[in-house]
Amino acid sequence: MDYSIFRVIKEALNNHKGWGPAWRNPTPKPHYDIVIVGGGGHGLATAFYLASRYGVRNIAVLEKGWLGGGNVGRNTTIVRSNYMLPGNEPFYELSMKLWEGLEQELNYNAMVSQRGVLNLCHSDAQRDAFRRRGNAMLLQGADAELLDAEDVRKLYPYLNFDDARFPILGGLLQRRGGTVRHDAVAWGYARAADQLGVDIIQNCEVLDFRIENGQVSGLETSRGFIGANKVGTAVAGSSSRLLSKAGIRLPIESHVLQAFVSEGLKPVIPGVITFGAGHFYLSQSDKGGLVFGGDIDGYNTYAQRGNMPVVEDVCEGAMGLMPMLGRARMLRGWGGIMDMSMDGSPFIDRTDIKGLFFNGGWCYGGFKATPASGLCFAHLLATGTSHEVAAQMRLDRFARGAMIDEKGQGAQPNLH
Ligand SMILES: Cc1cc2nc3c(=O)[nH]c(=O)nc-3n(C[C@H](O)[C@H](O)[C@H](O)COP(=O)(O)OP(=O)(O)OC[C@H]3O[C@@H](n4cnc5c(N)ncnc54)[C@H](O)[C@@H]3O)c2cc1C
Repeated sequence: MDYSIFRVIKEALNNHKGWGPAWRNPTPKPHYDIVIVGGGGHGLATAFYLASRYGVRNIAVLEKGWLGGGNVGRNTTIVRSNYMLPGNEPFYELSMKLWEGLEQELNYNAMVSQRGVLNLCHSDAQRDAFRRRGNAMLLQGADAELLDAEDVRKLYPYLNFDDARFPILGGLLQRRGGTVRHDAVAWGYARAADQLGVDIIQNCEVLDFRIENGQVSGLETSRGFIGANKVGTAVAGSSSRLLSKAGIRLPIESHVLQAFVSEGLKPVIPGVITFGAGHFYLSQSDKGGLVFGGDIDGYNTYAQRGNMPVVEDVCEGAMGLMPMLGRARMLRGWGGIMDMSMDGSPFIDRTDIKGLFFNGGWCYGGFKATPASGLCFAHLLATGTSHEVAAQMRLDRFARGAMIDEKGQGAQPNLH
């Protein structure tokens, strides 16, 4: 069923009785050409691009819970391509371009809103670093503007400019960055993949891999054995647990990241703002709630809930940046499990087991990567070679000393 203005009008006149389910609920087949484990944004996008761009149709996506129940439905919806390193920036810029055409490609309203992402700077050294990053972005074909304090004041006059421990000196603005409704991304990819014949199987947990003579031949699942020529895993925070079943130890730690929403307010924040002197970021949803978050909790866990000290830390960041936020009431908060890699950058790679491919290590920045991650993982699964923009996202980069340490933080997953 195609979605269009004519369809909406027709259904409005018909008491909305003609809408069908957005995707089927198929029984798993005994065997598929490719099985994707994980029905988050990355798994669903991979299945969609495999079917739409590489012509592979005999595909299943296995999801242990429901679509949108993982990080794809828990994130703070920010998309941007403001990276610096050559191993990252072309990949994230490809993702931005795919976001820009996504709703037409999927025939689904994902509420892509290019409202601008502004990173604030609070010292001369930080401004220099932003200038350098902005130049790197421009060289890769992305957009970037360096703002001074007066420019920022015109956009956000109510920020804490002068009477602050960290005065705002300016910021790096990417106008094409913004927000996308997160769960609609999962639903849009699922619907489009389903229309191309992909079987999306919910409530189907992968429990183990069947590996014969160094080659994967299928998966033991909570709904029985499912055979596959190739398996791609995209399970975000569950990566190390799942891959350990295949005897693979990943350079990844899992940490919880929390996010929060305030009560609904009249429109006050037009874009996305990040505080440069602490870890705090903020935007306003279309329903009016302020959506904000900060640092990960900082110790390893698989729990999808957070702890109070981080709530306090995030609220301190909020008050430091924008004191009037102290008058808004917090409505709710939640947590998701982050697959934090040792250098803060992701992996899209084959493993040493034939037919088993891995997508993960997205840290807390994988939502913006969803389209490019899906496309590059589909490319790898279909062709056996890395997509050119993901060529450095290899599992052996630590052994080769070829880290992609965007933040220059070193092997400190909790600080990336
Ligand atoms: C609070 C928070 C805020 C964030 N904010 C942003 C942001 O603003 N911008 C940004 O770019 N990124 C952000 N992120 C990160 C982003 O959400 C993730 O990096 C990204 O969603 C991960 O990819 P995914 O969508 O495929 O993951 P998920 O949606 O988590 O998908 C993985 C799926 O695998 C399933 N699974 C796990 N194990 C198994 C198994 N054994 N068998 C079958 N299925 C299994 C899970 O149930 C899950 O549905 C944020 C994350 C959180 C938690």
